[in-house]
Amino acid sequence: MNLKQIKSNIYQIDSNKPGKKIIVLGGVHGSEKTGIAVVEKMINLFEKNKINLVNGSIVLALGNEKAIEANKRMVREGGDLNRYFSQEKLNNLEDASYEANRARELAKIIDGVDVLLDIHSTLTPSRAFLACENEPKHYAIHKWFSAQDVITDPNYILSGGDYSTTDEYMNARGGVGVCFETGYAKDTSTADKVVESILNIFANQGMIEREVQSDSVCKDRNVYKMHTRIDLTEKGFRYEKGFGKGDFEKIEKGQVIGYHGKEVYKSPVTGIILFQVPKEMWSEMGCVGFIAEKI
Ligand SMILES: [Zn+2]
Repeated sequence: MNLKQIKSNIYQIDSNKPGKKIIVLGGVHGSEKTGIAVVEKMINLFEKNKINLVNGSIVLALGNEKAIEANKRMVREGGDLNRYFSQEKLNNLEDASYEANRARELAKIIDGVDVLLDIHSTLTPSRAFLACENEPKHYAIHKWFSAQDVITDPNYILSGGDYSTTDEYMNARGGVGVCFETGYAKDTSTADKVVESILNIFANQGMIEREVQSDSVCKDRNVYKMHTRIDLTEKGFRYEKGFGKGDFEKIEKGQVIGYHGKEVYKSPVTGIILFQVPKEMWSEMGCVGFIAEKI
């Protein structure tokens, strides 16, 4: 098979026939091992000719190589690769940091594909979920991932007001960006299952010859919309009893979920607490988590 390396830790497979172009990304956050394992397993499958690409092309890429090596989310403050895909940061050539250059390298490739699959994991215990849009063209791709929940973010709450993640960048280029959170980063047992889901996507798009198992499609999902960031203020923060243990903690509108000093913090909507940050990373991240509204 013509698997060829096109950049450092970026590989391309071409069928030399028309068809979809899909990029699979892992390790955009270096400590999220499942995505890294998924990309490595897929490189291996193509290298050993275990899959035959009959239409379109595929790019398999590792994101933040320095962070992967250090087994960290990022190697420096402000160096979150998944916040580098804004037009402003990509165009700011004065920023010649590794992350800025890597983002530009990847953005150039993303510009030429139709679909982006970015595999992530969470910092605190969580079930698997999709963190991306749920429009029909997105659903047609991500329905193959095993997850009961889709977290949309049309107002870029996670990114701080403007698009800056890989899937948001893909969407802004008119493609389909999908971010799959495989669950807790310390649990890497699902890598094979994630590979299977991605192969189902390829097969469903007519790119590889393979039986598609239609019973692996996820239906009747819960859909949420990102609403608010729970900031860490100078008064600090502590969760109300029963909260702060992991993602998908249910909250009601007006419910007390924590305290900034003596100031009560009530949930603005009915939904869930999500993307919780482990306490030791609060000041690094500037927030303790996010709130998503059930829609
Ligand atoms: Zn991540």
